[in-house]
Formats: sequence, structure tokens, C-alpha cells
Amino acid sequence: MQAILTVGSVAFDSIKAPGGEVTGVVGGAATYFSVAASFFADVRMVAVVGEDFDDGRMQVFGGRSIDLTGLQRVPGETFRWKGEYSADLNSRETIYTHLNVFEQFRPVLPDAYRQTPFVFLANIHPALQLEVLRQVDAPRFVAADTMNFWIEGALDDLRAVLSRVDALVINDEEARQLSGEANLVKAARSIRAMGPKLLVIKRGESGVLMTRGQGFFAAPAMPLESVADPTGAGDTFAGGFMGYLASAGDLSDEAVNRAIIAGSALASFAVEDFGLGRLLGLRKEEVSDRLAEFKRLTDFKAL
Ligand code: AMP
Repeated sequence: MQAILTVGSVAFDSIKAPGGEVTGVVGGAATYFSVAASFFADVRMVAVVGEDFDDGRMQVFGGRSIDLTGLQRVPGETFRWKGEYSADLNSRETIYTHLNVFEQFRPVLPDAYRQTPFVFLANIHPALQLEVLRQVDAPRFVAADTMNFWIEGALDDLRAVLSRVDALVINDEEARQLSGEANLVKAARSIRAMGPKLLVIKRGESGVLMTRGQGFFAAPAMPLESVADPTGAGDTFAGGFMGYLASAGDLSDEAVNRAIIAGSALASFAVEDFGLGRLLGLRKEEVSDRLAEFKRLTDFKAL
């Protein structure tokens, strides 16, 4: 098994969805990613929190294979984000993004992190993603995520990130925004020309579309009777995807396809409850069972 290094937000999230509302719960892209990836591989986290992120909050990482040596706790307030979902949960409005301690944050990789083979640049300012990339020694596979906030506010840095990564994992709306193309196949071509050879487009309840080389691979989302909160589903997907690749130590097309299913299975849990609620109590056997359900969902005999 190979380790994964990640940088990204650790946050206090407030979320309003048709089924309820939560305020100030632990979230953040790096948090969802790390919890999900730790089901498959060892994770090394680089991030920052404020003094308001007390030891009790730290418990979300406890008992998992998540190394927190690179998580700084500094004076000030933790990153805060609030989102509100539409009635059908398919769209979301950001109510606020308070960067707080991320404004002054300079990532410094502990020496033990520098040779990590798998790197995931979770959602955060692309300049911080770049600083982390500068400090790692010849990683085997680097993937990144981003969002509309950075496409609008930090496009030059984002382009520099894209030119240096093997893979990009983003949602359909962001793919359209980044490429200026409404059609996803055209958008994929345009984004791959910016750098990443492998592109994963997350499409919410429509599943995932992946392209690499000449081919495409698609996976559905698990049909679920009740969806509470889609927050973090994308980061959870990325955690399952990268975690699977790192545990397999294999970057073949077949391994990437299996990693897409692993990511989709993990993401299907994330949406079942608010915040990290469902993921924190999740057992490994439940993950294996859902992987088997995914196999049944997609298996058919060719004509
Ligand atoms: P997702 O639902 O996959 O887009 O991820 C939502 C998570 O991303 C939440 O836990 C937020 O704290 C975090 N987040 C929201 N906006 C940003 C941003 N601009 N930079 C970094 N993380 C963010």
C-alpha cells in the first residue's frame, strides 16, 4: 500500500437542505477526502485550523490512518463555509466563504511527507496547491480538485496547477465553466489540453464520466431512496478514488475504472446524512457490501 498526501480545506460548515439545517459542523474538502481515503490507504494531511478547532473536533480524524503532522493549529478562526441547496438538491448556492486562517497559511511539508507517491490537491486556493507541489519529490501520481470560487478568483494559479497534474477531478458545472464549452465531451478535450491526461467529471446524481487516452468510462450514482446532504460527496468520491489507486499501487486503465467505482461507492454514503455524519460511523464491511451492490448495478452480458 502506498501513502497519499493531501492539502485542502478543513472547515466549519453550515448547510441548509430541504431535509434540515446544521451549523458549524466539521467539514472541508481535505476532511472528507482524508476520511474516505483512509478506508483504503494511509493519508498524510496538510492544512490549517484555528484555535476554535478544539480537541473534541479533532476526534473526526481519530482512530483512522490519517497522519496530522502537517495540520497546523494557529491563532484565528477556522475556514467557514455555508451552502444552501435547492428543493431537488441538484444545485447549491454558496452563502459565504470565510477563508480566515487560510489567508495567511503557508504549507510546510514535514520531511516525512516529501516522498509521498500519491498526491491529492483537494479544494483550496491553487497557489497553496502549487506550494505543496513544489515541496514533494517526484510523486508517482498527482490529482487535483477545484471549484467555481477559484475558477473565478484565481484562474492563473489554477492554470499553473493544471499544467502540472496527472488528473483533475471536478464537477460538470465547473468543467463547463473552466472550458467555456457546454458539451461535456468538448469540455473534456479542452481541459485535457490544459494539462491533466486523466479527467474525472462528477455529475451528481447522474454519476461520473472519466476520460483518459481515447476512451471514456462512465459509472452511475447508486440509486438511493433518501439523500440528506450532498456536501462533500465530490471530495469523498476523490478519497475513494485515490485511496483505491494507492492501495492497488496500479495505474492501469482497469485499476482506474475500479477506482471510479470505489469513489462512487464511498460518495453514496456521504450523501445519506448531513456533513460527515454517515462517514464517521461507516464500517469496512458496509463499504465492501456497497461495492458488491455496484457490481450488480452495472453488470450485464454483452449482446
Ligand atoms: P463539495 O460538496 O464536494 O463541493 O465540497 C464541499 C466542501 O468544500 C465543504 O466541506 C466546504 O467546507 C468546502 N469548500 C467550500 N468552498 C470552498 C473553497 N472555496 N475552497 C476550499 N474548500 C471549500
